[in-house]
Amino acid sequence: MKHNFGPGPCILPQEVFKQASQAVLNFNDTGLSILEISHRTPEFESVVDESVRLVKELLNVPEGYSIIFLQGGASLQFSMVPMNLLPDGKSAAYLDTGVWASKALKEAKIIGNVNVVASSKEANYTFIPKDFEVPADSAYFHTTSNNTIYGTEMYEFPKTSVPLVCDMSSDIFSRVINVADFGLIYAGAQKNIGPAGATLVIVKDELLDKSGRKLPSMLDYKVQVDGGSMYNTPPVFSIYVSMLNLRWLKSKGGVADIEKENIAKARALYEEIDRNPLFKGTCKVEDRSRMNVCFVMENPELEKPFLKFAEDRDIIGIKGHRSVGGFRASMYNALPITSVHTLIDAMQDFAEKHK
Ligand code: PMP
Repeated sequence: MKHNFGPGPCILPQEVFKQASQAVLNFNDTGLSILEISHRTPEFESVVDESVRLVKELLNVPEGYSIIFLQGGASLQFSMVPMNLLPDGKSAAYLDTGVWASKALKEAKIIGNVNVVASSKEANYTFIPKDFEVPADSAYFHTTSNNTIYGTEMYEFPKTSVPLVCDMSSDIFSRVINVADFGLIYAGAQKNIGPAGATLVIVKDELLDKSGRKLPSMLDYKVQVDGGSMYNTPPVFSIYVSMLNLRWLKSKGGVADIEKENIAKARALYEEIDRNPLFKGTCKVEDRSRMNVCFVMENPELEKPFLKFAEDRDIIGIKGHRSVGGFRASMYNALPITSVHTLIDAMQDFAEKHK
């Protein structure tokens, strides 16, 4: 068995892979593959309906929000958010906490005025800035709840009257959130939702159709909401497997239960990083991500040998992003705690060899 610590696309539950492969051959006993049916069939419409219901139930989405599945990845949301929510003459506030946050604000600047309220760039994004003001007349305030590359996570969001927009690509469904605090949440599917191809958007209805801008239909949230994720052909397979994965999450007790497991997994690995003299964490302790654990070695020359040592134990995907170096162990919902223990054992055995 491989221990897949990859940052995304990433591990999904084995049973989801089995069910998905069965549906490729024979979807719901229709005698047809999920890959060959029309998205307009009642069978597929019920897949979209159930996916939306599961999102609503698992995240406790209150009334007054719409849930849609789009394409173009989280990256297209970097543009769609300002196109739809930033009227001419207004300004949007952004918190710069990493590569994805800065890409989001770069795209927003193409559309309108952007005000970066704080940034941790000078410190190579090793912490989440906390001391900032969000101007009350901002059209919205954009944050990134989990910084996949740098391994920091926002555990608190500012209380503000300005609508909060959040890129939750890499920690959605890993922890309990209060959707009512947000105006819009988006997330690429390929971590805790399902396979790459779909992007989840949860948007407060009162924010729809307010930019005063004439938008291409595909880029207009209102059109997509009215079309019920079916304005055009949706990413059928990605939505189907996302539904299976959300069913799995529900069967595990939902987000509150998986959050406890995620806390236990993160605690175990960070404890080892802090204890083992060969390794050290890269981020401010209070901002450490539970999903992406970044660490380096005190002696960088040992990093390549450790990577090989880990690979020989079927531990894969832990090479750090080039902007941080070292290692990044991504521990999404489907990663079992046994894999975390396998990594910890490898760190301890390696340290024993290099005393
Ligand atoms: N935001 C975050 C936090 C991410 O981790 C990623 C991808 N890893 C993206 C945005 C970009 O997502 P996509 O590739 O779906 O455009």
